[in-house]
Amino acid sequence: MTQLLSGLDKIYINGVFTPASGGGEDVINPASEKTIGQAPLADQNDLDRSIDAARQAFDQSSWPALSGAERASYMLRFHAALAGQRQRFGEIIMREGGAVHSDAWARQFDIPMKHLRHNIEVGKKQFSRVLEPVVTDFGSSKALGGGVVERIPMGVVAAISAFNYPTYLNLAKIGPALMAGNTVILKPSPLTPFQALLLGEAATEAGLPAGVLNILNGGGDIGAALTTDPRVDVLSFTGSDRVGAKIAEQGSASMKRVLLELGGKSPLIVRADANLDMSAKIALRGFTAHAGQGCAMFTRALVHNSIRQKFVEKIIELSKSVVVGDPTDPATTTGPLISSAQRDNVEGSVQLAIDEGAKLVFGGNRPSHLSSGYYFEPTLFDDVNNRSSIAQEEVFGPVGCIVGFDSDEEAIDLANDSKYGLRAAVMSADVGLAYEMAQQLRVGQVLINGGSLTALSDAPFGGLKRSGYGREGGDEGYLAFTESRTIEYHAG
Ligand code: NAD
Repeated sequence: MTQLLSGLDKIYINGVFTPASGGGEDVINPASEKTIGQAPLADQNDLDRSIDAARQAFDQSSWPALSGAERASYMLRFHAALAGQRQRFGEIIMREGGAVHSDAWARQFDIPMKHLRHNIEVGKKQFSRVLEPVVTDFGSSKALGGGVVERIPMGVVAAISAFNYPTYLNLAKIGPALMAGNTVILKPSPLTPFQALLLGEAATEAGLPAGVLNILNGGGDIGAALTTDPRVDVLSFTGSDRVGAKIAEQGSASMKRVLLELGGKSPLIVRADANLDMSAKIALRGFTAHAGQGCAMFTRALVHNSIRQKFVEKIIELSKSVVVGDPTDPATTTGPLISSAQRDNVEGSVQLAIDEGAKLVFGGNRPSHLSSGYYFEPTLFDDVNNRSSIAQEEVFGPVGCIVGFDSDEEAIDLANDSKYGLRAAVMSADVGLAYEMAQQLRVGQVLINGGSLTALSDAPFGGLKRSGYGREGGDEGYLAFTESRTIEYHAG
């Protein structure tokens, strides 16, 4: 462990790992409840230094004025340096985040690296455009004029991320923000700081200019100070809608651009003609993968009443293959929750669902075979009222619920009857009809019959309503970190 975390006991400011003035804090392995190491804690003094460094790199270095191709050469070296640390990333991802062996590399490292590679290419594209020449008749003379609309970087970006897919989220922010010519201060969740700090090593190895990327660690207090500081221009936040609302408020006094990737209660609509095996498999994974700690997971299955009983039986049967336990064991499919506090929240949500009359199909307890670790059994409720708490609130634990419906119109109404709007899915043999249903869903993305089954790097990701605003990924995710500047000229 000492070797795994070697050098990660410092924060990264102005291109140098430096001791944090705020001291240190134990980081707990959620599978063992044991400390894996001491993470550095930034205080106001560290924050000031990092903002100064990012400001200076933006205001006085050549970074924002470099061409996309020039920035890409730095970022490709950054990508290569990260790739060289692949093994170490996966080991840390399992130990500090509780991700299971089969996901730690494949989903939590390889996919974000693929997206980063794509985002580097997007940043090389030319988004500026030439304005059509226009002739204006002033009576005694005529003027000919035209112009150019450029895309320009916005300045210093504060990137604040959640604990559940840290490297994914960190790279989804850093990649496009830097490629657009901004400078960045990254503040990860204090529950998962080490995989963020490891990015600093790669930045140094890649020779990123000093101050272009800075990495702090700390909790809500340091996040609040970062998001209210007038020297910061953009807030790119991934986390809960509760904190997202605060971030929007914190950024408003100094007119920051705010990008919010927040929570969800994503509906999986299962029509009567759907492939039942595939639907049940997606539904089960929809609340058990990463112990339910995913923003876009299908934690709310809307199932046609004519097949609901068969569907429940199928999930019960499939649930026997779920293995809850030590994430480092390749046979494990579901690991622990991130913290004791998070498990308390999950237990509270389960009790509330029971109190509100939902029918417990399986689970509902801590697994009896595990004496330590913040584990919770995969838990499913049926006969759920869509207006009840378990169908409306994000649990962020391995808890799913099933709501019945009788018509497509009702399914769409139920799906849209949510304060969230991140993702939805339609399962049906009639793909054309599923497509028309998808067009009526108030969400940022819809998967028909499981979607493309691949990680589309060009697809923008983000939500509507309390799932936030702004997009990550694709051209949209790059443009979110830019603004336009129009330059006009006259030709005589
Ligand atoms: P959280 O909202 O508790 O914390 C997120 C981050 O905000 C952390 O780094 C935290 O230290 C920081 N923070 C807390 N208070 C702050 C404040 N006042 N000012 C600035 N920063 C502050 O979220 P979490 O528990 O880490 O993550 C789970 C949540 O993230 C879930 O709601 C999940 O749906 C959401 N999430 C969304 C996406 C997405 O892309 N839409 C992806 C992953 C996770």
